[in-house]
Amino acid sequence: MKPHRQTKIIFTIGPTTESEEMLRRLILEGVDICRINMAHATHEWTKTICRRIRKVCKEVGRDIALLMDVKGPEIRTNSREDVIELKVGDKVELLYENDPEIKVSKEDGLVIGINYPLFHEDISVKDIVLVDNGLIGLHVDQIVENRVFATVKEGGPLGSKRHINLPGVRVNLPSLTQKDLADLKVAFEENIDFVALSFVREPDDIDLLRSFLNEHQSRAKIIAKIEEQQGLKNLEAITKASDGVMVARGDLGIECPLEELPIIQHKMIKGAILEGKFVIVATHMLESMIHAPVPTRAEVSDIANAILEQSDCVMLSGETTTGKYPLECVRVINKISGRMEALMTPKLTEGLDLKHPKAMMLRSAATLAMDLKNTSILLFTRSGYLPRTISSLRPNKVPVFAFTDVPHIYKSMHIQWGIEPFLIDFDDENPERTVHQAIEILTAKNWIQQDEYIVTMTNLFNRGGTIESIQLRSLEEMG
Ligand code: PGA
Ligand code: MN
Repeated sequence: MKPHRQTKIIFTIGPTTESEEMLRRLILEGVDICRINMAHATHEWTKTICRRIRKVCKEVGRDIALLMDVKGPEIRTNSREDVIELKVGDKVELLYENDPEIKVSKEDGLVIGINYPLFHEDISVKDIVLVDNGLIGLHVDQIVENRVFATVKEGGPLGSKRHINLPGVRVNLPSLTQKDLADLKVAFEENIDFVALSFVREPDDIDLLRSFLNEHQSRAKIIAKIEEQQGLKNLEAITKASDGVMVARGDLGIECPLEELPIIQHKMIKGAILEGKFVIVATHMLESMIHAPVPTRAEVSDIANAILEQSDCVMLSGETTTGKYPLECVRVINKISGRMEALMTPKLTEGLDLKHPKAMMLRSAATLAMDLKNTSILLFTRSGYLPRTISSLRPNKVPVFAFTDVPHIYKSMHIQWGIEPFLIDFDDENPERTVHQAIEILTAKNWIQQDEYIVTMTNLFNRGGTIESIQLRSLEEMG
């Protein structure tokens, strides 16, 4: 028996998954990371959830990591008391209101309050304003001082606090808002493992977030959500600046022509792997399962494709926040990945720039493990460099067991393709004892067998110093 999945699963927590019982079942079913979406979460709820997850993990004996998704420069309509039906041809006015809780009354006619002060400066006549995931389309006709007049091109119901997309417009909002900074303080208090930043536009956005994390001694890894055109344009530099990227298909599908999406996904996955970063494919993976216990055939193919493209993770959103079948979603992904990963040809990523001799050694270790078949790789790491590198090499079908004694490195491995992470104490006096401890854990889990080889990369003591070594071990020979 082996750990069954190389592609990791992120689920977003919400009303249908927040109970201890449901979390227990999801964790046992194999989710790797819990995402808390700060568009909806309050600080109190976030704290409760983080503590609950830690408690449940302890009880079931399996750890997952925590991800906080902060909203960044997001434009929204203000609160409304009513839902108005916008019809094609209707004339509306878009106006900044400095208090998003100010409610626009019916007497104001079709004035849509928004939370973006410089809207009238950044928008131009003929621009398109998309409201509520593109459901409503407005064409800008005229701008008079701070008043923006538009005509409805796509009609629909307009509710409270709806998300606005301005395709191609460089929005003049700070990349980290006051709300984000306040949310991040909670992330620090709760020792969150990953922070995802929405609407990343340039590498500076990531650098700013990183300085803020450093100032607060946070070791959280940074995920850049690529969801609009500016971010796409700066994709390479953003990938370099962050620890990982997310193909945020929800907003990307509104900000870009839909037919570009598969191409963007392909390019982002490839680019991240070659840069040694992780990558997440997000949104609408199993959308129909919000209401149905089985996926559509197209959704099955979409997940299979993400696995074939070797994304590190797939992410569930509405499926696990309000959806009726969260557990079934995870089971579906388990089944698809089980089938697809078994089909993969054993080969390593080509074109990786492995500068460090240790990384080249690791490539040799991976080749050896693949040639031998039924062989696992055993790694010991303190910096996280080895697991990150072997994960980028994507050794299909080869289980990689990575042991560390550093808690934040342990958590960071939960997102990496193909890595099964363990947190143990290292014996610095005697590395061999650490190896034995690791092998005992794996044997107890039944993840390595008597007749199998294990390729181990570890330090050996030699004349007072240490040397890096690749070893071929088997339980039979070790006795
Ligand atoms: P969201 O981001 O769910 O926070 O909007 C993901 C996406 O846009 O796909
Ligand atoms: Mn989004």
